[in-house]
This record gives sequence, C-alpha cells and structure tokens, in this order.
Amino acid sequence: MITFLDLKQINAQYRTELIEACTKVIDSGWYIQGNECNEFEKEFAQYCSVKYAIGVANGLDALILILRAYKKLKIINDGDEVIVPSNTYIASILAISENNLVPILVEPDINTYNIDVNKIEQSITSKTKAIMVVHLYGQAVEMTKILELGKKYNLKIIEDSAQAHGSYDTQLNKRVGNIGDASGFSFYPGKNLGALGDGGAVTTNDEELANTIRALGNYGSHKKYENIYKGINSRLDEIQAAMLRVKLRYLDNEIKKRKEIANYYLENIKNENIVLPSVTTDSVWHLFVIRTNKRDELEKYLLDNDIQTLIHYPLAPHKQEAYKEWSSESFPVSEQIHQEVLSLPISGIQSLEDTRKVVKLINDFS
Ligand SMILES: *Cc1c(COP(=O)(O)O)cnc(C)c1O
Repeated sequence: MITFLDLKQINAQYRTELIEACTKVIDSGWYIQGNECNEFEKEFAQYCSVKYAIGVANGLDALILILRAYKKLKIINDGDEVIVPSNTYIASILAISENNLVPILVEPDINTYNIDVNKIEQSITSKTKAIMVVHLYGQAVEMTKILELGKKYNLKIIEDSAQAHGSYDTQLNKRVGNIGDASGFSFYPGKNLGALGDGGAVTTNDEELANTIRALGNYGSHKKYENIYKGINSRLDEIQAAMLRVKLRYLDNEIKKRKEIANYYLENIKNENIVLPSVTTDSVWHLFVIRTNKRDELEKYLLDNDIQTLIHYPLAPHKQEAYKEWSSESFPVSEQIHQEVLSLPISGIQSLEDTRKVVKLINDFS
C-alpha cells in the first residue's frame, strides 16, 4: 500500500533528535513560554526573513488573533468585510466569522486553485478592511497586484500560510509570511512543517501588531497579572517548540524532496482525462492536486491498486452546514474544483519507485 502520508515514518527520520529535544524540556522543569519557544520564534522569523514570529496554539488561532489584534488597534471593526477565497480550507473563513467580521468569498483560478486576482477588485466595498489570501496546497499566491489593491483601498493584506512554509513569490522574491501585513502558519502534524501535536505562529514586520497578538494570546496580558485586553490562552508549548526546532532544520530538505516528486508527476503523467496543477510562482507541494471529471472512478481505481489518495476538499465552504446562510449562493469554479480534485501521495519519504508506480497506474487509467 502506498499511503497518502505516513507520519510515523516521517517523524522516525528524526527520532533520536526529537527524543533528545523532548528530554531536554522534561528535565528543564519549564513547559510554557520558555527558551524553546523563544528560540523557535527567532529561528522561524529568520527562516521567513520577517522581524517577528509569535508562537500560538494552532493555525486557526494564528488567523483569529491577527484579525482580533487589528480590531483592538481599531483598524478593523465589527461588521467589516474581509475578502477570502471561496476555495480554501474552512479555517481561513472561520477566523473571519469568529471575529464578527463578514467573509466575502472570491472565486479561485481553475488552474492554480488560488484566489483569482482579477476578481478581487469588484468585491471591494466601503466596508472592506482586509484581504486574506491563502497560499493553497503550498503554492504562493502572486502577490504584486494584491499588494497594489491593498495600497489603493487601504486594506490589510493577511496571508494564510498554513500550507506553504518556505514557498515564495517569484516576482517579489519574498517568502510567504513576509509579503503581506501579517501571516498565519499552522504546525498541525500533517503540514510540511508539522509538530507532534497542535501548533501555530503569526509572522509580521509590524511591532505594534506583534505586541498586541502576544498579549491577546496570553489572557490579554503584556505583564503578569496586568490585563489590558479580554484575551485568550493560545500559546505554543515548550515541547512542541522543541519538536519544531528539530524539524525546521530539515524543512528545506523536505521541500526539495517534495519538489522532486512533483516534478516527476508533472513531467510523466500523460493522460488526456487528467489536468495537472499549474504553478505560476513557487510551490512547496504540501499537496499535489490533479483534476478530472472521472474523479470518483480514479480514486477507486487507485485504491484498488493499493494507492491511497485524498480529496482536498470534498465540500466547498459555502456548501457547509456551518454556513447555511450561503447555501443558495453559487461559486461555480469552486464547486467544479471540489467535484474534480484528487490529491496524489507526496511526502519527503516517498520513493521514486512508488512515485513511478503511481504515474504508471494513472497513465493506464481510462
Ligand atoms: C491547516 C489549515 C489551517 C488551520 O490550522 P490548524 O493548525 O489546523 O488550526 C488554516 N488554514 C489552512 C489553509 C489550513 O490548511
């Protein structure tokens, strides 16, 4: 069986170092807001070439806290609108609703799966305060025009970089997390940079925003027992930070291997029923997502041949029960994507032999 993502084997590569790092934390007697989190924040900020990184409990909290901080700073207010792609993992949208803001969905480009830059401006109103882009499946969004819109309409540009650690905009030559005003990252175990539990971070070059987020995630407190905001508890604990410090050292290698597999797929999958993903910037290939109008047949055929695939995602956010107020709205590009996409296995430990096997089976599919 070629599994979609074998986390046990992925983490086994670093087993000795992970155990050492974990032991160090256990023996230190200090488990929250200590040296490991501080060092990881510095190392991750440096990796993204950004001034500040703030560890938080998970990726959803990272996005929620960015918007909440803009509210505390009176840059965004209740009821304001935030533009977000209609094709994303639902967490991007939840972060907006959670802050009593209004998500305005904009269709993606069918080939890159990322937000269609040419459809954003028509959705901007006097209530729009931010654009949240999502570097979906690991591919950086082309940011030049989005940054221009941000300037023109005085909008904050927020990046959901949960799937794209290390990816970069080739035009700007900047890594995600350092392009917009603020960026949210997830270290969920299955992400390219995954902890051994939940974890997340915000990156930004804005000192005031960074300080506000740090306080909001720590009960609204800058200083022990002095609470200036009604905050929450959302912190990256020492053990997860220690795990991430180990894995960050190998992230570029993980990305390199993913790119090799993706390039092999791109060069060798030849089947008129299948549309391969287009890359217009850079992708770190968190997912390798193909499209076919025979998706369900292909999924079954591959599984019958011992290859596990997944669907990211089976149901568009506007079709979810949680957003039933949108059930009559139509986002045809997103709907087509959700009906046609299939994610092929890809990871830093996948062998060329397995990749070849996947390609051969797909090429034989009719
Ligand atoms: C994973 C993910 C999130 C949420 O991150 P968690 O750490 O799981 O909370 C947000 N946005 C996108 C695009 C994601 O893939």
